[in-house]
Amino acid sequence: MRGLYIGRFQPFHLGHQAVLERIADEVDEVVIVIGSAQESHTPENPFTAGERIDMIHGALQALRDRCLVVPLADIKRNAVWVDHVRSMAPSFEIVYTNNPLVMQLFGEEGLDVRKPPMYRRDIYSGTAIRKLMLSGGDWQALVPDAVALVIDRIRGIERLTNISQSDYSSL
Ligand code: ATP
Ligand code: MG
Repeated sequence: MRGLYIGRFQPFHLGHQAVLERIADEVDEVVIVIGSAQESHTPENPFTAGERIDMIHGALQALRDRCLVVPLADIKRNAVWVDHVRSMAPSFEIVYTNNPLVMQLFGEEGLDVRKPPMYRRDIYSGTAIRKLMLSGGDWQALVPDAVALVIDRIRGIERLTNISQSDYSSL
């Protein structure tokens, strides 16, 4: 039995890691789909699909041989998006998500959709972590060590800081 776990993972954090470990207790293999794979270098999506694969691959450790990581570009057509996922991902039986739109779209197609419990959503949130990265806060404590290493290696904080500026900000 395979489970699907889909997200943008900008970046992959300890909330994602906790969800993934729980999913791995319920299914034999987990298909991790990296959504909005074509996006990078924006404040909401600073990291490329390849960088996100590196982060997740590094963080998986013991789960590595039971996970398949697949990048998936947006098609901007919600009505046929589930077929798009099915055409790009290895087959799966269960979908795990807390994202309301993803839940709705898979639910309409009759799939078994399960909501993993939220882990400290107040701190383990991509949006909150990207804010900490910009304000000089302790984002490292909220991601697996392997993720922090990748972000350091690609000089991710410098990138996020630079692309978050506007050419009006010096006026
Ligand atoms: P962003 O704020 O950028 O949307 P995110 O933390 O929601 O970041 P996603 O990649 O959008 O990260 O999330 C992938 C999946 O993980 C979604 O189903 C989301 O609801 C879920 N998720 C995110 N954070 C947690 C958490 N702390 N506990 C449980 N599930 C989470
Ligand atoms: Mg989200």
